[in-house]
Amino acid sequence: MDLILLSGKIVTMDSLGQTVEAIGIKNGKIAAIGTNDEVLSKKDMDTNIIDLKNKLVLPGFIDSHMHMLNYGYTSLQLQLSNCNSINDIIESGKEHILDNDLQYGRWLLGRGWNQDNFTENRFPTKDDLDRISLNHPICLTRVCGHIAIANSMAIKIAKERVNQKIDNENIDWELGVFREDGINTLYGAIESPSTEEIKDMLVLAANAFIQSGITSVHTDDFAAMPDRDFKRVLRAYEELIEEDRLSIRVYEQCLLPNIEILKEFLDQGYRTGKGNEKFKIGPLKLLIDGSLGARTAFLCNRYNDDPSTDGIAVYSQEELNELVLLANKNNIQVAIHAIGDGAMYMALDSIKYAKKQCLKKEPRHGIIHCQITNEEILDRFRDENILAYIQPIFLDYDLHIVEDRIGSERAKKTYNWKSMLERGIKVSGGSDTPVVGFNIFENIYSAVTRMDLNKFPKGGWLPEEKLTVYEAVKLFTINGAYASFEEDIKGTLELGKLADMVVLSQDIFQIDEEKIKDVRAVMTIIDGKVIYKN
Ligand SMILES: [Zn+2]
Repeated sequence: MDLILLSGKIVTMDSLGQTVEAIGIKNGKIAAIGTNDEVLSKKDMDTNIIDLKNKLVLPGFIDSHMHMLNYGYTSLQLQLSNCNSINDIIESGKEHILDNDLQYGRWLLGRGWNQDNFTENRFPTKDDLDRISLNHPICLTRVCGHIAIANSMAIKIAKERVNQKIDNENIDWELGVFREDGINTLYGAIESPSTEEIKDMLVLAANAFIQSGITSVHTDDFAAMPDRDFKRVLRAYEELIEEDRLSIRVYEQCLLPNIEILKEFLDQGYRTGKGNEKFKIGPLKLLIDGSLGARTAFLCNRYNDDPSTDGIAVYSQEELNELVLLANKNNIQVAIHAIGDGAMYMALDSIKYAKKQCLKKEPRHGIIHCQITNEEILDRFRDENILAYIQPIFLDYDLHIVEDRIGSERAKKTYNWKSMLERGIKVSGGSDTPVVGFNIFENIYSAVTRMDLNKFPKGGWLPEEKLTVYEAVKLFTINGAYASFEEDIKGTLELGKLADMVVLSQDIFQIDEEKIKDVRAVMTIIDGKVIYKN
């Protein structure tokens, strides 16, 4: 036995819901489990022993939707989430240029602003950003990632790169506002980091995540760099594994937004599940609408607080059907970003269409976010075996805006996670970081209390949809493993499974549920090795 953990409260999350005292690890796998005496009887000369002192141990957390590379990239950028006005943005931008001694012509990139927090109550524009600098191209992305603002110099570079006359309804060249697919025109103008820099960003992100007890991520990285070159991202991962620098396990949600690029990917032999226990090709990821905050989530009916729009549908139904069918035919799982009910119907229809055309073993297609639902949509998730990838932490912001956006009647049937579980839908949990923080405990707290991080509203928003702590933990363990076809090798602590686990500062099953958000990981173990300890 290489390592034995003794005297803990080890909640295995197995199908019987067993709790044990001790666990033994050999060659990165769980080799013994039971009482202290049972496991200690397998000890030998070289066994390391850790006394857990009664602490709670869970399977390592699995974040089933996030953007790991983008997290690394943006954590090196200007953070704007604390800005309460456009003036704050201007001041922080000027400071960042001075602090980083940014040379003439180098890009200033920032992220995280939200006009709902601004005293001016409007988007920033090109003119605002020109007050930061005329000597640096500037691109500042909204918290949701679906809107970006550019200054004059950035607009000039973007125009030179494309074609002066490019016409896209999602680009306002006058105001410097780029939305949805229009953003690509702006991002394409930004200089791309080198492969070495990409590797450093991934390592930086992984090292942050393991501190929250995360041992596996499903991450959407292909479009994180301005050049959107999926081959370079895959090469970066390959090299990191060769160099033994990647601490976390990765299931890549492959964002391939059109038929040409999907075909190129397929031609190179990539298929869902290809790879090893450290890095695997995951599903085709498609983005079919925007965000509720930015009123770009695609709804069946108009927005309550802006009747001029029902959001943005990125694809026509035919385009979407074609993509999902091609993936399905080639044994590629599909995970579709859909927030509005209109987008959800499109996603469900495309999956149904593809599955009908070619019968395969259950492909575990799913929908990421699934926010604006209704009874019919939820029934279809159940009947058509659609996975739901949810982000409980989104409530922190969304519970304040959802009724404004869609009215209180429609809002009653949204973020319906308990209803999903009651129907037997496979629901996994993710953070969508860097859209919001990656703290798993805050995420579990949100699912359990349905309050924001300031404990509002008391008793929780739509309280009948609260999950138990155990259900919430399942979202981030075994259900995440199911979403990557890996329920036989991880997600619970059972004999023969990968030795990925986390030791918590407090027992989240015992403490007041409002305190769950303050719990920390005190030790993270991956492959039987202690890779983080606090
Ligand atoms: Zn996302």
